[in-house]
Amino acid sequence: MGRLKEKFENFRFKGILVITLIFAIIAAILLVELSGVHFNYRRHTLDLLPKENVVTKTDACCGLDVNTLLVYTSDNKASADAYVQFDVILADMKIGTRVVDLSFTTVPLLQGYDTVIVLLQDLSYLGNDVLTLCNWVRDEGGNVYFPLTLEQNAYSAVVENKIGMVASFNYSFVNSIYVHSDFMIGGGKAYTVTDAYDSARTVQLNPKTTKVHASLDTENGVPLIWEAEYGTGKFVVNNFGMCDKAYRGFFAASLSLFGDVFAYPVINASTFYLDDFPSQIPEGNSDYITRDFGTTIRDFYINIWWPDMMNLADKYGVKYTGLAIESYDDAVDGTTDAAPDTGTFLNFGNMLLRKGGELGYHGYNHQPLALGNKDYNDIYDYKTWQSTDAMITAFQHLIDFCDELFPDVPMSVYVPPSNLLSDEGRQMLLREFPHIKTLSGIYLPDDVLDFALLQEYEVDENGVVDQPRIISGCDIDDFMTMGAMSELNLHYINNHFTHPDDALDPERGAQLGWKELYKRFDGYMNWLYSSAPELRNLNGTETSAAVQRFVAVTPHINVGTTNMKITIENFYDDAQFLVRFNEKRPDTVVGGRLTSVTGNLYLLDADTDTVTVSFK
Ligand SMILES: [Zn+2]
Repeated sequence: MGRLKEKFENFRFKGILVITLIFAIIAAILLVELSGVHFNYRRHTLDLLPKENVVTKTDACCGLDVNTLLVYTSDNKASADAYVQFDVILADMKIGTRVVDLSFTTVPLLQGYDTVIVLLQDLSYLGNDVLTLCNWVRDEGGNVYFPLTLEQNAYSAVVENKIGMVASFNYSFVNSIYVHSDFMIGGGKAYTVTDAYDSARTVQLNPKTTKVHASLDTENGVPLIWEAEYGTGKFVVNNFGMCDKAYRGFFAASLSLFGDVFAYPVINASTFYLDDFPSQIPEGNSDYITRDFGTTIRDFYINIWWPDMMNLADKYGVKYTGLAIESYDDAVDGTTDAAPDTGTFLNFGNMLLRKGGELGYHGYNHQPLALGNKDYNDIYDYKTWQSTDAMITAFQHLIDFCDELFPDVPMSVYVPPSNLLSDEGRQMLLREFPHIKTLSGIYLPDDVLDFALLQEYEVDENGVVDQPRIISGCDIDDFMTMGAMSELNLHYINNHFTHPDDALDPERGAQLGWKELYKRFDGYMNWLYSSAPELRNLNGTETSAAVQRFVAVTPHINVGTTNMKITIENFYDDAQFLVRFNEKRPDTVVGGRLTSVTGNLYLLDADTDTVTVSFK
């Protein structure tokens, strides 16, 4: 009986303990929920590099082994324009290249090179070296790449049968590029060319010596990208005729057809920015919102748009980066009389942070950081700032406002209003607010104003990252689809921004209605993550951290008969590569992980500065 009583007492005591414990856990969860921001914001999967580990692209490229020769001529516009693109493509792919301008000099001896890139439409610039190159391919196992549509003349006639052409007619209008399914990320589909012209030679190829990777409109259309065996070496030919920023991925994919195995570093990030979020919700109604939902803009933002955006975040694992803006006034004298709706600001901001998102700066107001020496040419209804001091005062006000609402939440990303930032504005930001480590403008050219922040993926000596956004809005048009696909293949990146008011603005598809916009945005994400399932969902700062690592690495790649060894100079803690196994098949990996992407293309996630992939 005494034992029983003791047991009961024991149990009663334990029971109370259990109940107390449950309450304590609930209290802890509630606390974490209430202070939400403290729960997630430190969980960066990648942190920015310490300053002493920052390496600029120029420094990283200095250490590359030079195995590639590029010939072009600065006195031909097509060649010179193409070089502008290739200069970046080769630096980003970390292909050590010697560049020869045929307007000054001739093709050097080919000994010691693996690959020659002939950036010419008109091969007469090569003179008799056309034959030297062909013989080098046939006899020495050389690789020659023709990225531009070859002009028909006596010199191209010398190479035509060697690159597999058995017949050639007139030119074809390149409506769309059909990418064969195993060749590129996003392959198995035709991509519309928005600036199309008669840019492709209508050719027939010898099926015995060539392999086609992209063609006009359909799988059996005019060949646009192919490789051709010739003797002991290989040619790769591009016949689509475009050479601007939105097509860079086609060149990267073409280059990767050379060698038994070809590896190049990539960023591996998917980032979605929400411009003007949090911000003041516009008062009143909007035609399209009233039409479709019979509600106010405020109600639409809170009860329809935001829950839908959160659904997408949950469905695809996206971490949004919101760009805070305090006011929509047009004060440019440093006065800051805004009376922000702090409740909404705080709610939206906290929900974003709780989901692993991030907050960045957009501005005190939406007036771009430009002084009186800039002109909006009546394109924008903005004012220029009265002085640098006025810009500083207003920007400091935004920082104070964010610090007050989101204490201890680090903010380091800046996105300029309307993607406009003057040099003076940039210098001011980096000088006065050194905690800003990311400037995010746009990637694809927009030549409306000369101070649009048009960027490459770059890092300066202080570690400040240029991180351009590539596409925008919920209705991704053909031009942006091409750019998105191309960038998956060059940098393995998706970088997108949208605004809460897309659904109100007819220029961004509002007439379609939010339901349709949402459907299209969902369709884009679905395409993205099914094409590139290994893409890392990162917020703005994490993507900058990935850019820092991508820019810093200097890989030395050694492909032998039984394995490939990559030694990575300036490796910090993570490096990502796309690897194409042309003639070999991967077996085991030491120092990283390989994941199949498409066909013989793999993603390599390197954990150490030396990765060895053995072959089957
Ligand atoms: Zn904005």
